[in-house]
Amino acid sequence: MNISVRVTFLGTGGSVPNKFRNLPSVLIRRGPELFLFDCGEGTQRQFLQARAGINRKMRIFISHLHGDHVFGLPGMLHSLSFMGRSRELEIVGPKGIIELVTCVNRVVKLYNRFPIRIREIKAGQTVKDAEYIVRAASAQHSIPCLAYTFEEKPRSGKFDVAKAKRLGVPEGPLWKKLQSGNSVQLGRRRIPPSLVVGPPRRGVKITYAVDTRPCASVVKLAAGSDLLIHDSCFADSASIKASEYGHSTAAEAANVARKSRSRMLALFHISAMYEDASPLLAEAGKVFRHCILPRDMETITVVA
Ligand SMILES: [Zn+2]
Ligand SMILES: [Zn+2]
Repeated sequence: MNISVRVTFLGTGGSVPNKFRNLPSVLIRRGPELFLFDCGEGTQRQFLQARAGINRKMRIFISHLHGDHVFGLPGMLHSLSFMGRSRELEIVGPKGIIELVTCVNRVVKLYNRFPIRIREIKAGQTVKDAEYIVRAASAQHSIPCLAYTFEEKPRSGKFDVAKAKRLGVPEGPLWKKLQSGNSVQLGRRRIPPSLVVGPPRRGVKITYAVDTRPCASVVKLAAGSDLLIHDSCFADSASIKASEYGHSTAAEAANVARKSRSRMLALFHISAMYEDASPLLAEAGKVFRHCILPRDMETITVVA
């Protein structure tokens, strides 16, 4: 089965919003499943606009506990309850995320009508599921911050329909059996899956690294990513500011993309001081060819 992986940039700004960019949040849709990376203020409205569905299997990953990345979380949980979510939601983040949600809930009462599981993780730890894995690594910021990579396990090989028909395997459960790697018996003939199923295909890999200076741990985490979403807060002219505040320039982000051999770089967490961020794209483009500067609510499909 071909499951699509789509990325919607719900908010692409950083620190404070401006007329064009909301605070950081990225939604990955893998088939029916949702992954939200960071939840800046206003994310719930963008999330609704993206029509992602409110009762799907969903995990929220928080990079760090700066306000622009978490102030949207209470509103998101509150609204999901009001809109009828009943399914468990998992929140994953660095130390302090449990205290944040517990505190808000104690003082404001979120009226959660669905179970919430909160997990604090450290660099080097993972969240595993049957078909993918999310790894955390240290970013380099002014407070502890995690970068994440979402990686699908290898996908099963391509099923050769014409060959299956030629071999006389009838469509239906036997095709499914072959696709899942088992031989089938046709009268006296045994058909091994290798006859009709190609070699396993690489899964999609997406890395989310904000807020951060360019650093070796992110380069390592991002190795071979199909899409690298990297802090690109400033232009070259503000490089001192970038290093002072624990951020990156667009060109520095491009250098991380180049070193990690990523296939595409999305410039992200753009400072509110840039109403027109196209100079950042031009600067990044001199270092790494495949850069994009997504607008809020832009969606792209990522393929391996
Ligand atoms: Zn930030
Ligand atoms: Zn920050």
